[in-house]
Amino acid sequence: MSHSTPARDGGTRPDGTTYEIAKDESDWQQSLTPAEYHVLREAGTEAPFVGEYTDTKTEGIYRCRACQSELFRSDTKFDSHCGWPSFYAPLAKERVVYLEDRSIGGMRTEVRCAACGGHLGHVFEGEGYGTPTDLRYCINSISMTLEPSSDSSTT
Ligand SMILES: [Zn+2]
Repeated sequence: MSHSTPARDGGTRPDGTTYEIAKDESDWQQSLTPAEYHVLREAGTEAPFVGEYTDTKTEGIYRCRACQSELFRSDTKFDSHCGWPSFYAPLAKERVVYLEDRSIGGMRTEVRCAACGGHLGHVFEGEGYGTPTDLRYCINSISMTLEPSSDSSTT
């Protein structure tokens, strides 16, 4: 199977540049749990409705679980009822990179962390959710760590 995964693609972005954070796969395997490794490096997908951030409303920043890069903010998270955390935009456009994913027949757009190449999920367009971008970044909870904003408790 010629399925593209971060583990197979190594340290190179789709545009041919190099990820800032490049590690050997054996190092990723040591620093991630088997479940995290399966999603982030083997482009796996966690089961729907079970991820820890599926319905999370906490304000804060979602960081890449592999490299801690800031990826998404809670204020772009919305209720998609699709079973995975959904955002309508990344924290900044250069925080993620995109790949064509033909692994299930049709064409999907894969979303990866721009810093380490970790697989995050997919982005879908034109589904009519009524968000400002009409995009749905469908992201695995296990690819991220939520850092709650400190000002929600101190001010
Ligand atoms: Zn990352």
